[in-house]
Amino acid sequence: MTRGRAFEQGWGKTSGNERAGFLEALADELEEHRNALATLEVRDNGKPLPEAEWDVADAIGCFRYYAELARELDERQDQTLEVGDARFSCHIRHEPVGVAGQIIPWNYPLLMAAWKVAPALAAGATCVLKPSELTPLRALELGLAAERAGLPRGVLSIVPGFGSEAGQALALHPGVDKLAFTGSVPAGSRIMMAAAVDIKNISLELGGKSAFIVFDDADIEAAVEWIMFGIFWNQGQVCSATSRLLVHEGIAPRLLERLVAVARDIRIGPGMEEGVQLGPLVSAGHYQKVMGVIAQGKQAAELLTGGVRPAHLPVGYFVEPTIFDEPDIRSPLWRDEIFGPVLCVKRFKTEEEALALANDSRYGLAAAVMSTDLERAARVANGLRAGIVWVNCSQPTFTQAPWSGMKQCSIGRELGRWGLENYQEVKQLTQYCSDEPWGVLEVGRGT
Ligand code: NAD
Repeated sequence: MTRGRAFEQGWGKTSGNERAGFLEALADELEEHRNALATLEVRDNGKPLPEAEWDVADAIGCFRYYAELARELDERQDQTLEVGDARFSCHIRHEPVGVAGQIIPWNYPLLMAAWKVAPALAAGATCVLKPSELTPLRALELGLAAERAGLPRGVLSIVPGFGSEAGQALALHPGVDKLAFTGSVPAGSRIMMAAAVDIKNISLELGGKSAFIVFDDADIEAAVEWIMFGIFWNQGQVCSATSRLLVHEGIAPRLLERLVAVARDIRIGPGMEEGVQLGPLVSAGHYQKVMGVIAQGKQAAELLTGGVRPAHLPVGYFVEPTIFDEPDIRSPLWRDEIFGPVLCVKRFKTEEEALALANDSRYGLAAAVMSTDLERAARVANGLRAGIVWVNCSQPTFTQAPWSGMKQCSIGRELGRWGLENYQEVKQLTQYCSDEPWGVLEVGRGT
C-alpha cells in the first residue's frame, strides 16, 4: 500500500520553509475569522464566550509557533553525528512520518485540532482529522481556512463521524502511517488495539484525575483562585483539571469556607450571555453521566455545595459548581475522571501523606502544589508522578512546553518540539569515506 498521494507526490517533499508559509497563511485566515470562530465554539460546545476567544487565540498561536519550528527544521537537517570512527561520516535527517490519522475530543474542538494539525503539517506529514461527533463544526471551519490559505488538496482532510464508524475506519486504515489520538482511556485502549493490527506508530493523550496539594502556608485568596480555575474552567471538562484537592488540615476550615462561598457566587448561564463564568455541559449524555456520579457520590462523601441543576436554569445541561468533602478513597468520585464541575477534597497531616494520596491513581497527567516554602514545593513537585506539575498555580499551558502524562495517560508528547517529533521519523545516513578497503575479506583469508 502506498502512502497518500498528497504526501508522496508533494507535501512530504516540501522544505520546512515552504510549509511554514502555509502554516502562517492558515493562522492569518483563522485570525481574520476569529470572532466568528469563537461564537461557533460557544454554539457547538457551550463554553462561555471569553473562554472560546481564548481558545481561538491559542490555536492561532499554535499554528504560528509550528511555522517557526518548520523553518528551524531546515537548519537542523543533515546534521553531522560523531560516531568515533574517522572512516565513516554519519548524518541525521528528520523525515515526516507519512499520513497521520488524528482523532480528537469535544472539550477544546479548535485547539485540539490545532495541537494535532500544526505539528504534523510542520513536520511534512499529511493529516486526516476526525473531530468529535459532538463538535465537528470548528474542524470543518479549519478545513475551509486551510483551503483559503492555499494548502494543496489532500494535505488536510476533515472526516466527521462517530468514533465506532469513522474513528475505527481511520484507526484500521492501512494507508495511515501514524495514529494520534486524544480522548478517554477506554477509547484510547481500542485505538491501541486497532493500531496493533499493522503496527502503526501511535501517540495517545488520555484522561486524568489530577491532584492539587495546598500546604498550610499558602495564601488563601490565591489558593482559592487557582483551585477554582483548576476545576471550574470549561465546566471542569478539562483533561488536566485538578479535581482532587488535598488540603493541609491546618488551613482546611478557612480555605473550604472561602472556596464554598466563591463557588456559590459563580455566574452560571448560556455561554453567549454577558458575564457568564460557567456554561452548560456539552451534551445530554454527558450531563446524565455527571449527574449520575454526583448522585452516587452523595453516598460516599459529604456534599458541601452544588450537585444540582441551578434553580434559575430549568432547561439545558447546567450543573452547579459541586464540592464534595472527604470521599472514600475507593469511591469512583475520588478515583475516576468525572469531566464536570465536581471537586473532591481530602485533608492531610504530612507532606508524605499528601504525596502518597496524590500519587495513588492510575492517572498521571497533571498535578499542582501550592506553598510559600519554595523548597518544599520543589521537593513535592519532584515527587509527583505526573507529566505536568504546576507550582503555585494550576492549568496555565504554553505551546512551547511538552504536554503529556505518566501511567495510563499518555504515549508520546504533544506541544513544543516534542509535538513535532510525534510526526517525524529519524533517519541516519552513514557513509564509508576511507580510501582503504574495509578489510573484512582479508581478515577472513588470514585465518
Ligand atoms: P472519547 O474517547 O469518547 O472520544 C474522543 C474521540 O475518539 C472522538 O472523536 C470519538 O468519536 C472518537 N472515538 C471514540 N471511540 C472510538 C473508537 N473506538 N475508535 C476510534 N475513535 C473513537 O472522549 P471524549 O468524551 O470526546 O473526550 C473526553 C476525554 O478526552 C476525557 O477523558 C479527557 O480527559 C480526554 N482529553 C484528554 C486530553 C489530553 O491532552 N490528555 C485533552 C482533551 C481531552
